[in-house]
Amino acid sequence: MKFEQLGLRPELVRALQEMGITEPTDIQGKAIPPIKEGKDVIVISKTGSGKTAAFGLPMLESITPHKGLQGIILAPTRELAVQISQELQKFAKFLHFRFATIYGGVSLIPQVKEMERADILVGTPGRVLDHLKRRNLDLTKIRCAVLDEADKMVEMGFIEDITEILQSTPEYRQMVLLGATISTEIEHLQGHFMHDPVTVEAERQVKEEYLQQYYYNTERHEKFSLLVHLLKKEKPERAIIFCSARHTVELITRNLRRYGFGIEMIHGKLSQNRRLQVIDAFHKGKIPILVASAVAARGLHIEKVTHIINYDLSQDPQEYIHRVGRTARAGESGKAFTLLERRDYDVFDAILRRYRVKVEEMPPENFQRLQFDARREEEHRRPQSHFRSSGNFQGRRAPFRRH
Ligand code: ADP
Ligand code: MG
Repeated sequence: MKFEQLGLRPELVRALQEMGITEPTDIQGKAIPPIKEGKDVIVISKTGSGKTAAFGLPMLESITPHKGLQGIILAPTRELAVQISQELQKFAKFLHFRFATIYGGVSLIPQVKEMERADILVGTPGRVLDHLKRRNLDLTKIRCAVLDEADKMVEMGFIEDITEILQSTPEYRQMVLLGATISTEIEHLQGHFMHDPVTVEAERQVKEEYLQQYYYNTERHEKFSLLVHLLKKEKPERAIIFCSARHTVELITRNLRRYGFGIEMIHGKLSQNRRLQVIDAFHKGKIPILVASAVAARGLHIEKVTHIINYDLSQDPQEYIHRVGRTARAGESGKAFTLLERRDYDVFDAILRRYRVKVEEMPPENFQRLQFDARREEEHRRPQSHFRSSGNFQGRRAPFRRH
C-alpha cells in the first residue's frame, strides 16, 4: 500500500518522501482511514510501529492553519513532546502550520506567546494544565485531542490532569488515544470522553516462533486439579494465571496456597499501589506465580513471563491476544496454555480464526484429583466445611477441535 491510497494530500506525501517514508506501516494503514473520517479511535500497537504519523497525518489534514488552536496532543514526557512536535513539523514542511511545544521546567512566558499563535499544541499534561488554570490557554476551538502513550501517562499519574484538560475542550471534538496496552483507567477515559470509539490494533505482536500455544480439553470440575498438575510439570520460572472474574482469582489463589504454591494475586479491587508492589515482587523473582484478572493486569508493565495459563477465557477474543502477549517478549521464549471448557469453544474458535493463532492440543494427562474449596471469599470465614471434590466423574464431552 502507498500513502496516496490512504487519500493523503500531496503536500504530506511529498514531505514523507523526503523523509524516506513511502509505505504506511501496518498500524498506519489501519488507523489513518478512521481518524481521517473524524471518528474517535483507540490505537494499540507497540513502540516503533509508527504511531506518530498514524495520528499526525490525518490531524494535519483536518486542521486549517491560522484559525486558532485546533489540535492538542498530550504526551507523558518533555522528550516525547519535543519528538512528536519535531516529527509533525517535518510532515507539515509544505503546509503552513504553527506549533507550540509546551512542557515543564522552563519559563512560562515564552510559551504563552507560542500558544497564542499556534494551530497545534504538543505538551505534557502538567504544564498544559498549569497554563489552562492561569487562563493562558484557550481550548474551546479544539477539533482533535490526542493522548499519545496514554498507558504511560496513566502509569505516571496524569489521569486527573488529563481529565481536567479534556473537560475544557468541546464535547464533540475528535479524540484519538494511543498506547501499547489499554488499562481500566484508560477505559474510564474512553467512557467519559469518546463517542463510539473504533479500536485498531497491530497484527499479533508476539513472534510466532518464540511463543508456543497449547490448549487442554477439560471440564470445570477437574480444572483446578489439572492446573496444579500443569504447574508441577512445567515448574515455571514466572507464570501468570489469568482468570476472567475477580472471585475466580481469589478462589484459585486461596486453593493454590493450600497446596503450597508461593503465589500472589492482582485484581481490580486492589489499589494501584498494591498491584505495583505485587508486580515488583514478581519481577524480582520473589514470587514465581501470579494469579491475575486480565483487566487488572492491563496497564501494568510485566516482563519476562515464561508461562501464561488461561484458567478461563474472556468473552472478548482480543483479550486472549493481550494475555499471551505478556510472554515471549523481546525474543525470549514462552508458553501459553488454555484450559478449555465446553462453554469456551465458540470464543476460542473466534480467536483462532480472527488472529490466525497457532495452537496445539495437549493430550489428556494423568493427574491426581484434588479437593477444591469453592466457597467465595465472604463465605470462607464461616466455620462449616463446604469442600467440593474436584474428582467427580461426570462423563466426557466432545473435545474442542479446530474446524
Ligand atoms: P511509535 O510512536 O509507534 O513508537 P514512531 O511514530 O515514533 O513510533 O515511529 C518510529 C520510527 O519509525 C520513527 O523514526 C518514524 O520516523 C519511523 N516511521 C514512521 N512511519 C514510517 C513508515 N511508514 N515507514 C518507515 N518509517 C516510518
Ligand atoms: Mg509514539
